[in-house]
Amino acid sequence: MSALHTVKVEGESRYDILIGPGLLGDARIAQTLRGRHALIVSDVNVAPLYADRVEATLLSARPSLHVGRYVMPAGEQEKTLARFCECIDALAAMCATRDAAVIALGGGVVGDLAGFAAACWMRGIDVIQLPTTLLSMVDSSVGGKTAVDLPAGKNLVGAFHAPRAVIADTAVLRSLPPRELRAGLAEVVKYGAVFDAGFFAWLEAHADALVASEDATLSEAIARSCRHKAEVVSRDPFEQGERAVLNFGHTFGHAIETEQGYAGAQSDALNHGEAVAVGMVLAAKLAAAVGWAPLSDAHRLEALLHRLGLPTAMPTGLDPSRLLERMRLDKKAQAGGMRFVLWKPLGSATLASGVPDETVLEVLRRG
Ligand code: NAD
Ligand code: MG
Repeated sequence: MSALHTVKVEGESRYDILIGPGLLGDARIAQTLRGRHALIVSDVNVAPLYADRVEATLLSARPSLHVGRYVMPAGEQEKTLARFCECIDALAAMCATRDAAVIALGGGVVGDLAGFAAACWMRGIDVIQLPTTLLSMVDSSVGGKTAVDLPAGKNLVGAFHAPRAVIADTAVLRSLPPRELRAGLAEVVKYGAVFDAGFFAWLEAHADALVASEDATLSEAIARSCRHKAEVVSRDPFEQGERAVLNFGHTFGHAIETEQGYAGAQSDALNHGEAVAVGMVLAAKLAAAVGWAPLSDAHRLEALLHRLGLPTAMPTGLDPSRLLERMRLDKKAQAGGMRFVLWKPLGSATLASGVPDETVLEVLRRG
């Protein structure tokens, strides 16, 4: 098996996702550049580790390229309009032209903010995503959603802006804090749960290798996840329909996250991936409660997440009726009432509406 995987995203915006170890040193990251300017956007954790390598790769392929850098503080609390303005100012300072490119080197925070800056500068320039967290490799770098947060809520200002290429160097995952790796694994499990029982079984068979960060296994898991995301994004680029199944576990997960407040790495609150892990188990139990799938499917999911070091039970101290209220306020809820993504059974998820509140509450109470 080759260590390098290529996934093609088709549809209106076509681009390649390259996955494998060592790609930050590969001249292919320069191949999609069209103009004379490239702005590397990164954060204070990632830039010291990898920005020089990216710059050296770009310059050895394109010696006359004008390379700028915008390095932001790390963390979700920095995904703001103020940092977005700084990023735009960095493009202005280098007199970036319409053929300039933004190179987003970092996790989802950097990718979302840099992608949004690229969407806005001169009404849209290229962005090349170089994701450095597992979550950004399997999720945020693919699909073209970009955004920043407002005090009023997450991702409230943004744009659809497809990348020109996504290049995921799996070797950078070695420096990723283990808790961040596990958070990404929750989203990987989601693809199996939603689309692909065969992939789910493969994850069960390779759980130990994934937790141990084995390169070839991780690369294959990332490629299989990206293939699923690429397919659904090609069919539904603007999330008008079936792309919503990617929210499996997220309705419950977001409610848990919001109730706990924005989670930071230091706090004992769940991070996004952990909240999604718990949310997927709750969704699986809800699917069993409405008769869509056997409870044994929910137990399989719990067992896999547990082996991957992820939580599967509701954090203590959360009030079920407040969580239900949160879910009603979720921006993805439709005017017609709450919709849940449920599997029918494991490996095939679809939208469910009209689930009685009492059934949801019962699942939340049992946690
Ligand atoms: P993140 O970008 O905050 O990265 C997590 C932490 O890991 C940060 O402290 C970062 O500095 C550090 N880090 C990143 N790569 C590293 C590496 N290789 N080595 C060492 N440290 C590293 O978080 P994330 O989980 O990658 O992304 C979360 C964001 O993604 C959220 O803002 C979310 O809204 C967004 N998101 C967007 C989409 C989308 O479709 N656009 C989808 C899912 C999530
Ligand atoms: Mg998610």
